[in-house]
Amino acid sequence: MGGASRNDTRITRVRSRVLDLPLPHEFRPAWGRNEIQRSFYVTLVEIETAAGITGITAAEAGPEAAVSIDRFVAPHLIGQDAASPEALIGVLRDAEILGPPVYCIEVALWDIAAKAAGLAAHKMWGAATDRVPAYCATGEIRSPERRVEDCRRIVADGFKAVKLRFHADDPRNDIRVVEAIRREIGDGLVILVDANQAGVLPGLGGHRQWTLRVAIDVALELERLGVTWLEEPLPRYDYAGLRRLREHMGTLQLAGGENNHGLHEFKLLIDQGCYDILQPDAVLSEGVYQLRKVAALAEAAGLLMAPHTWTHGIGLLANLQLVASIPNHSWFEFPHEPPGWPASALSQMLADKPWIDAEGCLAVPDRPGFGFELDEELIERHTVARQG
Ligand SMILES: [Mg+2]
Repeated sequence: MGGASRNDTRITRVRSRVLDLPLPHEFRPAWGRNEIQRSFYVTLVEIETAAGITGITAAEAGPEAAVSIDRFVAPHLIGQDAASPEALIGVLRDAEILGPPVYCIEVALWDIAAKAAGLAAHKMWGAATDRVPAYCATGEIRSPERRVEDCRRIVADGFKAVKLRFHADDPRNDIRVVEAIRREIGDGLVILVDANQAGVLPGLGGHRQWTLRVAIDVALELERLGVTWLEEPLPRYDYAGLRRLREHMGTLQLAGGENNHGLHEFKLLIDQGCYDILQPDAVLSEGVYQLRKVAALAEAAGLLMAPHTWTHGIGLLANLQLVASIPNHSWFEFPHEPPGWPASALSQMLADKPWIDAEGCLAVPDRPGFGFELDEELIERHTVARQG
């Protein structure tokens, strides 16, 4: 029989486009001291199959991701069945030995498998829910007065939870922001805090990390203020410090893991008792389906999973489909920090920009695959390089 059948999901081409996507206003990320961001790189990847089904994903990186995919991944995918991600995950794990992590590729493989099956990814994986409560993730350091104003808008938008960034030279100035919000807005708003201490981004003023003593002092203050979780209070391999910190806590939960990679590292974090909530990202930390295995380990240990999502719109939806397929999900990160980085900027390459419903929840797209369409016109306008 000549020609490809409808079910022929053999990979015929892997194509990358590097996009430099503009932000509507200067953005000063709390995690990059003294940095000013005006745009962000995304590498959009399309995997084509004999049947004509295309799987789409994106890396949170620029030309280095496109080169890595072209050199270390594409040659091992061409001719293989895209609808067998478990047989191909080894390629992505080995690619990380040689270049930047490209775990995002597993999203495109599952996108093909789910489209061939005619199901949304979360339904293919056993749908635990079809909507998830979202929190508004902020990204800058702002004064208590400005944050109170922000939180009034955030509550009016319909969010039930907000995440603040702690990066002041003196953490007491960060704590004053929480105190002001509690005083002016009340106890109704769930407050999460991200200290971003687990990474190595030095910023332009040098990197400073909290000591265990500082982390304990800050965490006890946050507990007093009724904060729900403290994220990344210590370096990502300080397993002993994280466990000791967690032992000091009553109601305050510790969250983290967005800078840890691979099944084995997440098992270590669980076994060492580092966190209450794990935060791997489906386009950064491991293959999206591999993170369902991490979720199962977490479930057995009585832990929750709340992925990091601050990458791009496809990453947001990949993580949304993932959490909708696991029972132990928690608050879902929804990056939204106007005017520099509003949600519409994160998802600018998508035809439909995700937004919360009246209850502050995100509905999980029900279309086959990961449930998005690209804004081709915008993508072409911001393409700066092509590969494959
Ligand atoms: Mg974080």
